[in-house]
Amino acid sequence: MDNCVFCKIVAGEIPSKKLYEDDKYLAFFDIAPMAPVHFLVIPKQHILTGISDINDDNADLVAGALKIAARLAKEQGLTSYRIVTNCGPDAGQTVFHLHFHVLGGTTLSNQMA
Ligand code: 5GP
Ligand code: ZN
Repeated sequence: MDNCVFCKIVAGEIPSKKLYEDDKYLAFFDIAPMAPVHFLVIPKQHILTGISDINDDNADLVAGALKIAARLAKEQGLTSYRIVTNCGPDAGQTVFHLHFHVLGGTTLSNQMA
């Protein structure tokens, strides 16, 4: 997808601090961390702009991203953490390539909105 920052990260056109990579997924640390541990998990292919695009054909891909997010959280030593996906501009979404934030390493705010 042209002009998508995460597609550029996948393509290696923008550098990132990678945490995990396989043929379908990439995880990398957020450039502007909101917690001591803050990384993003994305499907490499720009199939979904956000979670609102989930459907029967891509639900397995979404579930796979969550599985990796939970595994990496454990590998990072997190016992408590939050997985967030912002959906739409009013929710704070700025990159329209599906991604899950994983936040932890501190006592997280209980403000959900
Ligand atoms: P959103 O606001 O769409 O939920 O999340 C996008 C996230 O991507 C933000 O937390 C932002 O800091 C992160 N981000 C934006 N551009 C880059 C980049 O070039 N590199 C990295 N590592 N993270 C980025
Ligand atoms: Zn993209």
